[in-house]
Amino acid sequence: MARYTGSVCRLCRREGTKLFLKGDRCFTEKCAIERRAYPPGQHGQGRVRFSDYGVQLREKQKVKRMYGLLEKQFRATYDQASRMKGRSGENLLMLLERRLDNVIYRLGYVTSRAEARQLVKHGHFTVNGKKAHTPSMLVKPGWVIGVRDRSKKVERISGALETMEGRAVPQWLEIEKDEMRGTVKAMPQREDVTLPIDEQLIVELYSR
Ligand code: SF4
Repeated sequence: MARYTGSVCRLCRREGTKLFLKGDRCFTEKCAIERRAYPPGQHGQGRVRFSDYGVQLREKQKVKRMYGLLEKQFRATYDQASRMKGRSGENLLMLLERRLDNVIYRLGYVTSRAEARQLVKHGHFTVNGKKAHTPSMLVKPGWVIGVRDRSKKVERISGALETMEGRAVPQWLEIEKDEMRGTVKAMPQREDVTLPIDEQLIVELYSR
């Protein structure tokens, strides 16, 4: 599958906000947004005025990059959200939140969603006791997300759990660090997504 292989900090600078794509580095002064808070490229420091379309496009790109999806996957998730009851924008965010790679990141097993995706594909995690390989799997209340016995000593997982104090686990999830056992307590709610996102702009973009 195609994937973005360029500098991820460049994506944050393009969107003008922290997307938290690089693990612990995002919380240090080495973060590129802290040092160069303007878009990348030769004209990055020039003045830019966005049209309505430009504002909507940037919001969609921001959320897509935050969750690490490609356009086709993101559009398919939006289409699924728009077929559900309720507001399409909120449904979209809830579907993104329920992805297994996001849940593993939110539980603190890893320091970024990209790392979560890679470790899921490598078979380090279990869902309800069975090995899971699919980062896009949507979790449901009652599901238990664990680490395979032979993976419990993997430094990237145990180290991330030890240093997760700075990253709060949302209330719809629960982590028992010593047992490396995460539980989905409820469906996520809109207020659980605390990053600055205006999902209505994405709805407007796709409704054009
Ligand atoms: Fe974005 Fe993290 Fe890079 Fe900062 S360090 S620019 S938040 S990916």
